[in-house]
Amino acid sequence: MSMAFYSLGAAEEVTGSKHVLDIDGKSFLIDCGAFQGSRAEADRKNRNLGIAADKIEAVVLTHGHLDHCGLLPLLVKEGYQGNIFSTPASRDIASLIMMDSANIQARDAIYLRKQAQRKGEKFDWTPLFNEQDAIQASSQMVGISYNRPMYISDNVKLEFYDAGHILGSAMAMFTVKKDDEEIRILATGDLGRKNKPIIRDPDSPKLAPDYIILESTYGDRRHESPDNAMDKLAEIAKRMMKNNMVKNNKQENKSRIIIPAFAIERTQELVYYFHLLVDQGIIPEIPIFVDSPMATNATTIFQVHPECYDKEIKDAFIKHHKNPFGFNKLRFTTSVDESKALNDFKEPHVIISADGMCEAGRVQHHLIHSIEDPDTTILIVGYMAENTLGRRIRNRESEVKIHGQKFNVRAHVEEINAFSAHTDYAEATDWLKTLDTSRLKKIFLVHGEPKPQAAFKKYLADNGFPNTQIVRYGETYPL
Ligand SMILES: [Zn+2]
Repeated sequence: MSMAFYSLGAAEEVTGSKHVLDIDGKSFLIDCGAFQGSRAEADRKNRNLGIAADKIEAVVLTHGHLDHCGLLPLLVKEGYQGNIFSTPASRDIASLIMMDSANIQARDAIYLRKQAQRKGEKFDWTPLFNEQDAIQASSQMVGISYNRPMYISDNVKLEFYDAGHILGSAMAMFTVKKDDEEIRILATGDLGRKNKPIIRDPDSPKLAPDYIILESTYGDRRHESPDNAMDKLAEIAKRMMKNNMVKNNKQENKSRIIIPAFAIERTQELVYYFHLLVDQGIIPEIPIFVDSPMATNATTIFQVHPECYDKEIKDAFIKHHKNPFGFNKLRFTTSVDESKALNDFKEPHVIISADGMCEAGRVQHHLIHSIEDPDTTILIVGYMAENTLGRRIRNRESEVKIHGQKFNVRAHVEEINAFSAHTDYAEATDWLKTLDTSRLKKIFLVHGEPKPQAAFKKYLADNGFPNTQIVRYGETYPL
């Protein structure tokens, strides 16, 4: 029997995850993610899957982020008819994400065609896939819950374990029967962190793996503890209320906190924390608006997957028949009119809106309205990539451009760094130490940029894991 591993995406980079286990000539694809970057580069990379879709034996999806599931519709469009295995929650999140991606591409095509026509240019760009392809991909998904081992091929068993990254996220353990022995390969997908709200900590599979395919996004970074997030949130909310009381004496009343946040996971974490803070009497009930249609849809998915919750959320809410993602003063705004009406809201309040890096979406309109107002706090809770509006705000630039118009930044800018959904290098190494590594032959590092990966490789070697391989494109590694 021959076995090998290679990567078609997220080798020495952090996006477009596509990895392949080749077992006796059969290909098992782990994730089929979209590459996210500049339009030209993303289009070039995403059009070429790098594998014959109809030759794949099975697909395993670790979680529903776009850079892990975003090309599944293209895969089925190109002829893949087999199963796509994921946890039930990942199936729901991936379905939402794939459909959203199809919609965005359809809108882009209309917009770009108009632009080209105006300039008299030739236009031949077509979306990678359409809504029907996204629906077809959803229809091929097979839900397997955590810790329910299943055969996905004659001699290959798959078991999902909690990855602690986002709702439904899983590590995938492949157990391959090879003659009289078993070979086990553990793919972490994106590996999360301990003590994140809502979901459980990364699990430690009891079975000893022979190989681990490990993410390495923060191979050279340490994060703030997730425990700090709620305290800091409380502090910022209390300060807003205090400011408000001072203002009240002057008959003014318009403080607000604007939180740019990604629609999936970060928004629900914030809602959950606010609910806890109110429930525990740490902050008074403040009107909170989730102003993002995608976040509203994602929150309904969170509500129907309590099997993914950790003990804290069960103790605080589920036992008492309370919805952790809904409370008196929480509103999900859907229509554009409701969103606009927030401009005139007369009480101190919080607006959670997408997108997370302020590059698009309704959050831009809230920033236009409030960024010059010293009674506004802009709270940064996520990663802001270079050259984004979010990064400029985080850097406290005094003037920024939104929709081509210049604004002076007079709002307060605050930051909480404790929300990261990816493990840092020390957390990942601590997790490795919880595993039975008696059979471990090699760790393959994927999903990381060269500099962090080199640092991580060295740290792992210094901490008892000398056999690591930074996975490169075009290289095949025999197992
Ligand atoms: Zn992810």
